[in-house]
Amino acid sequence: MAPPSGQKTSQSTGTSAVEYADINWDEIGFDLVPTDHMYVMKCSGEENFTRGSITPYGNIEMSPGAGILNYGQGLLEGLKAQRTEDGRVLLFRPEENAERMKIGAERMCMRSPSTEQFVEAVKQTVLANKHWVPPPGKGSLYIRPLLIGTGPVLGLEPAPEFTFLIYVSPVRNFHTGPLNLVIEDTIHRATPGGTGGIKTVTNYSPVYKARALAKAKGFSDVLFLDAVTKKNIEELSSCNIFIVKDDVISTPATHGTILPGITRKSIIEIALSLGYQVKERVIPVEDLLEADEVFCTGTAVVLNPVFSVTYQNKRVEYKIGAEAVYKKLYVMLTGIQTGRIEDNMGWTVEVD
Ligand SMILES: *Cc1c(COP(=O)(O)O)cnc(C)c1O
Repeated sequence: MAPPSGQKTSQSTGTSAVEYADINWDEIGFDLVPTDHMYVMKCSGEENFTRGSITPYGNIEMSPGAGILNYGQGLLEGLKAQRTEDGRVLLFRPEENAERMKIGAERMCMRSPSTEQFVEAVKQTVLANKHWVPPPGKGSLYIRPLLIGTGPVLGLEPAPEFTFLIYVSPVRNFHTGPLNLVIEDTIHRATPGGTGGIKTVTNYSPVYKARALAKAKGFSDVLFLDAVTKKNIEELSSCNIFIVKDDVISTPATHGTILPGITRKSIIEIALSLGYQVKERVIPVEDLLEADEVFCTGTAVVLNPVFSVTYQNKRVEYKIGAEAVYKKLYVMLTGIQTGRIEDNMGWTVEVD
């Protein structure tokens, strides 16, 4: 992908002309596309964050002793900005990401931006990169806030300086097709008392191994079990899971080992509003194997159906297609996110 050219082209979308970065919007994928600007805000361990600013996108400098480099003191977030048909730019529930970062920061002994600071910083970052928000139907602008310990430490203690940073990258719409999952029963993602319920950076590379082994066998991803009994399903490495049986929708309850996804929460609320019964509960593997439908949710995947699950060499297939329950939930969620369906939930925030 070419570096930012800084050039803009004008495209007419119905009522108004919208400026876009000069790239081929049909060729974006999931690789990082550098944009023009990022947001940076720093504070010492003794004070709160006060003021940040938009800076040119580029490498950051830190001490080799930085807390993030040595002990993984850091959190990530993920949300998206979408372009509507009439050229507006919408965020989806950004204050939820802010709240989740605050909870994570408390667990990781870090200072965090206030909800207002977080949302304002996201808006400023998107505004500064507005021409990188893809045209309607071509994808979205993925927004990655980071909160990291950038001050130097040698002993095991919180860094003396924290940096809140936001960068963005245009990404195409996710159309991988239905997933083929394999249940992982030896490597675990999260343990009770651990950090599975927050988005610490230290949760992700430990699952590369399980994913690599699964991918080598042709699976799309792994589904993790609870580490204590190894009998109940929890989630994937970066998305939550739901099962549908006889019009009852169930998802594992979040008690510290499962990341409380904002897409998960939204799908629960949409399902209830459409009249479905929704249960947050313990889900034994047997229930998963007997389900009619299975799907995954997350900012990156949005809502992705699962075609098959393999457990101890037994493979089960699920219903997919236009008549499935997940399809109705998907249409409603993406309709609200892209402004196609009126947002009666009050979830979208316009950036202007
Ligand atoms: C981010 C994440 C999710 C999905 O959360 P959303 O807020 O819906 O994007 C689910 N599971 C894990 C482990 C995650 O890191």
